[in-house]
Amino acid sequence: MPFLLPIDIILGGKEAYVVITLKGIGVSKGIGLGKTFIIKQKKAEVEKKTIKNYKEEIRRLEEARQKAKRQLEELQRYTQKNIGEDESLIFEVHQMMLQDEDFIGRMKQFIQDESINAEYAVKRTQNEYVKIFSQVEDPYIKERVADIQDISKRLINILTDTMEQSLSEIKESVIIVAQDLSPSETAQLNREKVLGFITEDGAETSHTAILARTMDIPAVVGAQNILNHIKNGDTIIFDGTEGNIVIHPDDKTKAQWIEKQKKHRMRVESLDQLKGTKSITKDGVEIKINANIGTPKDVEIALKNDAQGIGLFRSEFLYMNKSKIPSEEEQFKAYKAVLEEMQNKPVIIRTLDIGGDKEIPYLQISKELNPFLGYRAIRISLNQVDLFKTQLRALLRASIYGNLGIMFPMISTLQEVHQAKRMIEEVKKDLINQKIPFRSNIEIGVMIETPAAALISDQLAKEVDFFSIGTNDLTQYTIAVDRMNRQVAYLYNTRHPAVLKLIEMTIKNGHKENIGVGICGEAAADPDLVEIFVTMGIDELSVTPGAILEVRQVVQGMSTQKVKKWGGDTCTTK
Ligand code: PEP
Ligand code: MG
Repeated sequence: MPFLLPIDIILGGKEAYVVITLKGIGVSKGIGLGKTFIIKQKKAEVEKKTIKNYKEEIRRLEEARQKAKRQLEELQRYTQKNIGEDESLIFEVHQMMLQDEDFIGRMKQFIQDESINAEYAVKRTQNEYVKIFSQVEDPYIKERVADIQDISKRLINILTDTMEQSLSEIKESVIIVAQDLSPSETAQLNREKVLGFITEDGAETSHTAILARTMDIPAVVGAQNILNHIKNGDTIIFDGTEGNIVIHPDDKTKAQWIEKQKKHRMRVESLDQLKGTKSITKDGVEIKINANIGTPKDVEIALKNDAQGIGLFRSEFLYMNKSKIPSEEEQFKAYKAVLEEMQNKPVIIRTLDIGGDKEIPYLQISKELNPFLGYRAIRISLNQVDLFKTQLRALLRASIYGNLGIMFPMISTLQEVHQAKRMIEEVKKDLINQKIPFRSNIEIGVMIETPAAALISDQLAKEVDFFSIGTNDLTQYTIAVDRMNRQVAYLYNTRHPAVLKLIEMTIKNGHKENIGVGICGEAAADPDLVEIFVTMGIDELSVTPGAILEVRQVVQGMSTQKVKKWGGDTCTTK
């Protein structure tokens, strides 16, 4: 359990700062040392006020409009340079909206006619426009709802002085500290500048933590109350393995930690010698070690770490940080890039898995009480046929550029697999009619991440070419423990015999039907569990790129004859 110690409070070096030691949950290895950059995520409060001088209020609105324009120009420049031309266009659209005299004029009219404050007038206008645009059938106009909300929020933030620091403002090397970071915010982080991040909220298998590991950015989550102890620009040092954090470290502490960092680097470098070697146990069992990625950019780091393939491409990250659904062409290009770069090595692309902690505002999925149990992943794809078929078309078209496998997330019934396969067939037919080529032997697989799927894995195995066990979700659903909830995090344990039994059952059922079974959840990189999974007969482990060589080392150092039995109520494995 994360907790705020402070372990010790001592007077620091010359600057006479108080050294504060805190503890959170280390989720991405490495030592971070640098100046803090605090991301404020305060939500602006908009109160209705009666004003006396409407001209003064309109002047405030005009000033905010000019400031918003400057921010958007800066954002557009940054995104174009660091993310891409396509992604930057949205900020151009927002600038155009700021110039729309009807939109801004409506705000001014509210101020003048009703003698209300500017921020309230913005809110009123936003609500009015959102209501009208949401009722329009045209999907292009519907998509503008998110833009209206975005631009209104920007104006309100300026007017109420609730400046949200944008990630693009980061120009120097810093350590980000925030209440929380969403997966899409994390995906935006500039790896060159961000030396690491620390959040007050968060959990080990949240997608924010998973992304940090994939991007190789040291990170600590669950550092409760850290924001009460720091201000922007403070020096901080932290350890992404153990979760230890020191604010205002003195010279001695810095020296000790730098030494630690050196050792960490040396250990990582020593693993380099395993590149090019096989992942084979002492008693001759060979397994494949693949990489989990979130964007095409991650292929580079996967190959650098000697991935034999991509075991999980979380395609939903292509849909994030956008204002609309990525087009078929955009997706096609991304899938093609990954397949080409992997040069015929297997690449498993998982179809859209949103819901839970991954939100995509423009899809307008309503808030739910239990998002992990609700409208999520394959359930959305099967319900929003156009969305799903666009992705399948892009995948099939890209298939000729490499060795593609398509995988469906969060399967819980046989019918879902039948339906999803039927959709692939329909898309194939369309492509044949249009004489668009695709590879004929694309493997189709499912994630086993619900207890239901594990329990019917004997039947599922007859329907697909491979299984990939998602231990992150399988653990939360089996033990009924929300993977995001810190208060019950002590119960979240993939070593629980119930979870291990389901994994063992899945492997056996897969093998009975001669299909490959892999694991792509975070547990695939846990050294003790690796030994158990290999002994159970797993064929493939797919892990964050930075963990590939460590897992290979574990495999090479073990023998399936010597692993201790797992089981019992205590969840012990060794
Ligand atoms: C899993 O659940 O183990 C998995 C790999 O999927 P995600 O973490 O993206 O839910
Ligand atoms: Mg999952």
